[in-house]
Amino acid sequence: MKKFLFLLLPFGAFSQYFQQDVSYQIEVKLDDKKHILHGYENLTYKNNSAQILDVIYMHVWPNAYKNKHTALAQQLKRNEGDKIAKADPQDLGYIDSLDFKVNGQAIKWAYSEAHQDIVVLQLNEGLKPGASISISTPFKVQIPSGSLSRLGHIGQSYQITQWYPKPAVYDQNGWNAMPYLNQGEFYSEFGNFDVKITVPANYVVGATGELQTASEIAFLTDKVNESKKKLEKLLNAETDRSKNFPESASQWKTIQYKQDRVHDFAWFADKRFLVLKGEVVLPHSKDTVTTWAMFTPQNAKLWANALEYLHDGTYYYSLWNGDYPYKHVTAIDGTISAGGGMEYPMITVIGNSSSKEELEVVIVHEVGHNWFYGILGSNERVHGWMDEGLNTLNEMRYVQTKYPDNTRFSDMVAGGRFHLNDLDHHDSGDIMYRTLASFGLDQPLETHSDDFSSFNYGAIMYQKTGVIFFYLMDYLGAEKFDAAMSAYYQQWKFKHPQPADLQKTLETQTGKDLSWLFKDLIQTTKHIDYKITSVKPMLKKGSEVKLKNPGQVNGPIEVNVYGEKGLLETRWAEPGAKQLYVNTPYSEITKVEIDRANDIPELNRQNNLWVKDQLFHKVEPLRMEFLFGDHEKDKRTIFWTPMLGGNAYDGLMAGVTVHNIGLAPKKFTYLVSPMLSTSRLRPAGIAEFSYQILPTKAIELMRFGLSVKSFGTDRVNKNDYFIAFSPYLAINFGERKARHAFHHDLLIQGIYKNNIENIFSKDRGIFVQHTINYRKPAYQLNWTNRFEYFKTGSDNFFNESVSRIWTNLNQNFNYSIGKMDRSITLNIFGGYTLKHVISPNIMPPYVPSDRLFWSMNGLNGQQDLFMEDYNFGRSDVSGIWSQQRMDRHGQFHTGFSDGSNINWLTTASVYAQLPIKPNFFGVFADFGAAPGVFQTVDTYYNAGVALRLGKVFGIYFPLVYGNSQTYIDLYSNYAQSIRFSLRINPVNRLGLHALLNS
Ligand SMILES: [Zn+2]
Repeated sequence: MKKFLFLLLPFGAFSQYFQQDVSYQIEVKLDDKKHILHGYENLTYKNNSAQILDVIYMHVWPNAYKNKHTALAQQLKRNEGDKIAKADPQDLGYIDSLDFKVNGQAIKWAYSEAHQDIVVLQLNEGLKPGASISISTPFKVQIPSGSLSRLGHIGQSYQITQWYPKPAVYDQNGWNAMPYLNQGEFYSEFGNFDVKITVPANYVVGATGELQTASEIAFLTDKVNESKKKLEKLLNAETDRSKNFPESASQWKTIQYKQDRVHDFAWFADKRFLVLKGEVVLPHSKDTVTTWAMFTPQNAKLWANALEYLHDGTYYYSLWNGDYPYKHVTAIDGTISAGGGMEYPMITVIGNSSSKEELEVVIVHEVGHNWFYGILGSNERVHGWMDEGLNTLNEMRYVQTKYPDNTRFSDMVAGGRFHLNDLDHHDSGDIMYRTLASFGLDQPLETHSDDFSSFNYGAIMYQKTGVIFFYLMDYLGAEKFDAAMSAYYQQWKFKHPQPADLQKTLETQTGKDLSWLFKDLIQTTKHIDYKITSVKPMLKKGSEVKLKNPGQVNGPIEVNVYGEKGLLETRWAEPGAKQLYVNTPYSEITKVEIDRANDIPELNRQNNLWVKDQLFHKVEPLRMEFLFGDHEKDKRTIFWTPMLGGNAYDGLMAGVTVHNIGLAPKKFTYLVSPMLSTSRLRPAGIAEFSYQILPTKAIELMRFGLSVKSFGTDRVNKNDYFIAFSPYLAINFGERKARHAFHHDLLIQGIYKNNIENIFSKDRGIFVQHTINYRKPAYQLNWTNRFEYFKTGSDNFFNESVSRIWTNLNQNFNYSIGKMDRSITLNIFGGYTLKHVISPNIMPPYVPSDRLFWSMNGLNGQQDLFMEDYNFGRSDVSGIWSQQRMDRHGQFHTGFSDGSNINWLTTASVYAQLPIKPNFFGVFADFGAAPGVFQTVDTYYNAGVALRLGKVFGIYFPLVYGNSQTYIDLYSNYAQSIRFSLRINPVNRLGLHALLNS
């Protein structure tokens, strides 16, 4: 790959910026009975590159909805379930009747082998630099259901987007042909559009471009007058829930739109639409832009003020970035399934909103895409942050400017409860980013859209970019920042800027080195943390603030100096500075603070304060908060909640949980749950402590921890209890460059606990475990290998120990029958004891403790040597709780432990969900082998039916059971053959990072 690039670069052919010109003429007619578009397209393509083009790549994106093999179907399967494979045939869509001609001549063309929504035109003659060709074709689009993605119809409401054949972008990187995706947006050539749309006469149409047809302008004017009256009535009436469409008119109308300097054309048609029309005067040029809102009667109340949002959005984006260059801006009330809204040039479609506040933000965001997508046409598929992220910055700024006292985030989360108050719109992005980063779950911003995990696509690409550019704006000052962004806009409008172009413009305009932003914060997951170490008087005047950077990013640091009367001085330390000189004399300083407004997305803000007259220069009053909340930098918050628990020996347990797990999580976290056992009247409970490190290379997350558990162990003797200490180290390997199907972890964990049978006796052990995970929608694999050492007893009298290894391979195959998703699980286990030692103080025969046995049918409570699971009757040997089994060791689904032994064991088992509803019925078959009595190998088998709820609960009924040695009458003691598993394990040692691969 490198070689190839090296050879290519010396030609210098691609180094000069250029862009191609495209000019379209399209005629299209909507058949609203069959939901079909009949169209004809003729486009002129001009080659402005220095190369001769022999082929032209065209996107025919309606084919993305054709079948389950498309890139769209595959991505939806991963993110939202198998939507396209399960769709009814009439809900799918496609484009056909294509017959491409170049300059009127037939040519060779073909669908791309990899993607049915890309075609390749073979030109009869190479297209020379500076030359143009015309490309024409008829086309027919079967419009898919709007429930699949963005092109579609819901009844007779039409959202006609990415609907016509369109050349892929040819730029300095070559051809950018790409299949349509739900997650991952657009990149298109700028050009002129002349589009004629024919629909039944009573449709209201909203589209990209300027409307040319006088009769349609009159039709819309009538609609506006009619809508104003209708709206008054609707606002005072019960919400109209009827979604009925009026009959389509028998007459047709053809309406024409023209537009230049746009890179796409979308249109929307609905017979029910109310239409409002307004205008906005642009801040710089004072030109007037017409605003349009088109919405259905049932959303009238929500949309009543939509013109205000269109007005303010257009005004502020123009003010901060540069004036809107087109004549119209439209928002459509659509029923799209892909997210809150979707942008197209000059027009935007908005999904269902739950409140006016949400609708305003979505409309402003989508209108804002006219700048970041529409006018500044970067390649969103590859550099999504350049449009979504910069747009989110403007959206945050819009809410802050228009509603300075907003508490949007608090209102959204739990309606302001749980202490999450005073958190505004910017804080939501800030907390989202810092929380994901604290868990080691974030990915670099410069990640291909399809490689983002679905939550990072929303939370990182949008929100992290928003907050880091907010940080930049804070550092530069709004005036300087706006001047730089306006220069970027002027330089790159109607073009295809790359990340380096943005960096170059901003650096030139501001005279600053912004590599801390463009390199560290955009290309990596390095995190920010600044600290004040000391404040000292200077000899002449002023003071010196010493700064430290325990984080990984060398950015600028805002320092605020306070005196008796409040804020005295705000200064910025330039990137890399170790100290900052402030003008305020030391005697006047009471407090120094980094980042007063929380605009720097630091993972740790707890070290941002220096207080003069306090011990260690810290002021951290303790504060108790119920349940959950956010951390504030000048307080130490402890969260608390009542706690209930229960098991066979302690009965009901009641107590309180205190913890510091808030937003954003800290490096050191604790959770302590002391409880009182009501049947033993003694204390019980759990505690978890952990400290985590986020390296930047090769390791995603490293966590040291200690887990403590203490519960009763006997129904009669109330003094019997255990207390177990488990220290551990967990490492998640891998780099977060891309959403990955594969990852692996290492877990080293110890145990130290009392042995309830003998107060002089202890259990202790250690294991080292490596796990490989692979996750794809149709197939998941988990392969765990573990070495264990465990010793029980007293050091000098009686003791028994094992060193052993085991391997467990679990594979899950998913399949669908009709619309039912079911799975088959195959589990293979093998365990081998390397060494088993019983202390010589014991008289023969040496009988190994069955706690140390390999278990044929999953672990019981006593065999859970490392206390990894929660049991209801840990020490029961008979009765119902003894039949509770953990899915570890051999996977026989029976209550019989036959074949369990100290030496070795292997099992293979299959569990299949039945294709009936609901999905918790299944069948199983198990095979196993274990050492026999006389150095032989005994084999075992078992099969039956089961009821299983995910991984939490299962109950298994064997129908056949036996082994190679003896006849077993399954039904003589059938109750005991039933096995159940109950798995409640709230603490996941390895964190949440498996989320990264979905
Ligand atoms: Zn967006």
